Amino acid sequence: MAQNEVPTFKLVLVGDGGTGKTTFVKRHLSGEFEKKYLATVGVDVHPITFQTSHGAICFNTWDTAGQEKFGGLRDGYYIQGQCAIIMFDVTSRITYKNVPNWHRDLVRVCENIPIVLCGNKVDVKERKVKAKAITFHRKKNLQYYDISAKSNFNFEKPFLWLARKLVGDPNLQFTAAPALQPPTAQVDPTLMEQYKKELDLAAAQPLPDDDDDM
Ligand code: GDP
Ligand code: MG
Repeated sequence: MAQNEVPTFKLVLVGDGGTGKTTFVKRHLSGEFEKKYLATVGVDVHPITFQTSHGAICFNTWDTAGQEKFGGLRDGYYIQGQCAIIMFDVTSRITYKNVPNWHRDLVRVCENIPIVLCGNKVDVKERKVKAKAITFHRKKNLQYYDISAKSNFNFEKPFLWLARKLVGDPNLQFTAAPALQPPTAQVDPTLMEQYKKELDLAAAQPLPDDDDDM
C-alpha cells in the first residue's frame, strides 16, 4: 500500500519543556528519518507507522522546536489534532502540576479527541511523582502510562491505545514491533512490575474530591 493510502492521524504531543517529548518521538527510526519541518509553525512532524490487525496506521506526530518553554503553544499547533499525548516527567513534580494547563489548552481547540497521559523517565531511580499522586487522567477520562523514552519502555503503549480508539476496535493489535533506536537507559523489570501494581492499586482508590486542577 502506498504511504498516502495509509490512514493517517494528526497526533499532538504536548507537555512542559524537558519532559522528553523530542527524545520519545525520535525513538522511532523511520518516523525520524521521514520527519518534515513545518517552518511556518516551527514544528517537526514525524510520521510514525504501525502494522496492525486492521492494516497500517500512521500517526503524524507533531513535536515543537522548543516553543513550549516560553509559555503555551499557538492554536495552529492544535488545530485539527485527532489524538494527543500529554507528557510529564516523573522526576519533576512541577511538570505533573502543569498537566491540567496543557489539557485545558488542548481541549479548548480539540474538543473530543482520545488523549494519553505519559509519565516519562521511569528509568530514573529517584522517582518523585508516584502512582498514587497521578489522578488527573481519571478525572478526565484519559489513559495513563509510565514510560521511559531512553529505554523504549512502553514505547508503543500510548500509540496502541490511541489506535484502538481511532479505529474503534478495543481488540486491535499491533502485528509487528516497530524499529526503534537502541536503548540508552535500562529499566529494572522488578521495579516496573512494582510500579504497575501501585498504579492498579491507585486506580482502585476513590478519587480525592479536590477541584484545584479542574
Ligand atoms: P522536550 O523538551 O520535552 O522535547 O525534552 P527532550 O526530549 O529534549 O529531553 C529533555 C532531557 O530529558 C534530555 O536531557 C533527555 O536526554 C532527557 N530524557 C528524555 N527522556 C528520558 C528518559 O526516558 N529517561 C531519562 N533518564 N532522561 C530522559
Ligand atoms: Mg523538544
